[in-house]
Formats: sequence, C-alpha cells, structure tokens
Amino acid sequence: MEIRLAKKIGFCYGVERAYKEALTLSKENKKVYIYGDLVHNNKVKKELIENNICFFYELDKLPMDSKDSICIIRAHGIPLKDKEYLRDNFSKVIDLTCPIVEKVFNYAYNIQKNGYYIIAYGKKEHAEMIGLKGNIDEKKLEIIKEPKGYNHSKICIISQTTMDYNKFREFSAEIVRLSDFNEVVIKDTICYETKIRENESKDIAIWAEFVIIIGGKHSSNTRKLYEIAKKYNDNAVHIDSVDELKGMDISGYNKIGILTGTSTPNKSVEEVIEYLRRGF
Ligand code: SF4
Repeated sequence: MEIRLAKKIGFCYGVERAYKEALTLSKENKKVYIYGDLVHNNKVKKELIENNICFFYELDKLPMDSKDSICIIRAHGIPLKDKEYLRDNFSKVIDLTCPIVEKVFNYAYNIQKNGYYIIAYGKKEHAEMIGLKGNIDEKKLEIIKEPKGYNHSKICIISQTTMDYNKFREFSAEIVRLSDFNEVVIKDTICYETKIRENESKDIAIWAEFVIIIGGKHSSNTRKLYEIAKKYNDNAVHIDSVDELKGMDISGYNKIGILTGTSTPNKSVEEVIEYLRRGF
C-alpha cells in the first residue's frame, strides 16, 4: 500500500506557537487560563487540561483566581477592549494572536486611516472576524460572504485568513462589478497555510483511491479540506481519530492519501499511519 501524506500536516504555525507556549507556561507556578478554545480539537483540549490549563469563554464569568493567574489570548485574536479588560483582571496576559492575523488587523486599521471602507470576505461569527471588528473602526467595515454593491469613494476588499482563495477572487470581482467607487484595493489576506492545504487536498484526492482527512468535527478548515477532497474523490472520509477508521473496510485500496486541518496534532496522524502500516 502506498501512503501519501500532505506536506503541510499537523498544527499550522499560529496554533503550534500558541500550543507550545501554553504548555511552557503551565510549568510556571501560576495557574494558566486560555480565553476561548485554543483549537477545535477535543484531544488537544484534553491534553491541555491534563497539564493544568483551564479555559473560560465569557468575559463576565472570569475565573475567581484571575488576579493570580496568567491568561493566554489564542491565535485568532480578540477585540482591543477585551484585551484591555483581561489585562486589568489577570496578573499577566500573554497575547498569542497569530502574527499573520495581527498583520491583517494592522493592514485594515492603516488603510481605513487612508479613507478606505473595508469589505471583509468572512464569517461574522468567526473569532478572527470578531477580533478584526474590535481592532478597527467597525463603522467603516462590513463582514459578508455574499457579494453586493457599495457606494463609497474608496473601498478595500480583504479576506478572513482561512477562506477559499478562488471564492475570494470571485467575491472581489463581483463586488467591483456591483459597486460605485473611485478607488478600489483588493488585498489577498488569506493565509499561506490555508492555500497550501487546500491545493494539496485537490492533488491528493485526484491521486488517491481513498483519502483520509483528520481533524475535529467542529474544525471549519478541516471540513473545508474534506469538501474539496470529496469533490474529486468519492472515497474521502473525515475522521476525528484513528478509532473511526477501524470500522471501515479499506483493504481494497492501494493508494491512500492523508491530510489534516490546522488544528490536528501530529500524534493523530502518527496513529493513523501506524494503523495503516500494521494492516487492519
Ligand atoms: S491558519 Fe494561518 S493565520 Fe490562522 S492561525 Fe494558522 S498560521 Fe495563523
């Protein structure tokens, strides 16, 4: 059996950085909290909890011992006022917003200062978009998924870092067609990790007889990789862990492709490879 592993597997750069730092901090004397989920992956969450790291999800329900604890801001980023609030209420705040996300926030902030209205291609309820809204002037921003016309002299179109690149291009072209403006800037702010993984999903799905996409069922980027693979290969499956593979009959396949979302730990991949190599 031939196994082809995507070149980009396991955590993306931003998640890896936050995950490692959280584990390092947990070895200090203070209690460590993460505001929101670090990643949409139950195994990772369990591992962090086993290392004495706790989670909280609402600013009006801060941990009782916050003043003596460290708070980690995860890779998606958060609104500035929330960051301030956390700084006032924890002994230390470690901001692990992914530098790529931070760069998008700064870009949007600066171009707004130059008079541009921002149209962000993304999901309003996504943590990164909530963060964007809270880092720039939200009156000069709209976050949408379906294109429509605008009537502003200067418009700038950006994207959530995890959106599909081809769809962003179509979205931008449609906004330009429907809008009345003097100047337009289209800035591709999609993360390279997203682009590489999506391209690989297509290539591997075409090559393989059976495709395994490993990642949390709530991870939107994993689900997106699965949707792409499924388009090119009927035998694509999305699994959370190796246990789900065990009930599947894959003995007839000779070429197996493996991909992961950006929140899947390497350990989950190793377990799947070991299972395939051992022979089921
Ligand atoms: S997907 Fe890209 S932008 Fe998002 S956290 Fe990972 S490296 Fe950063």
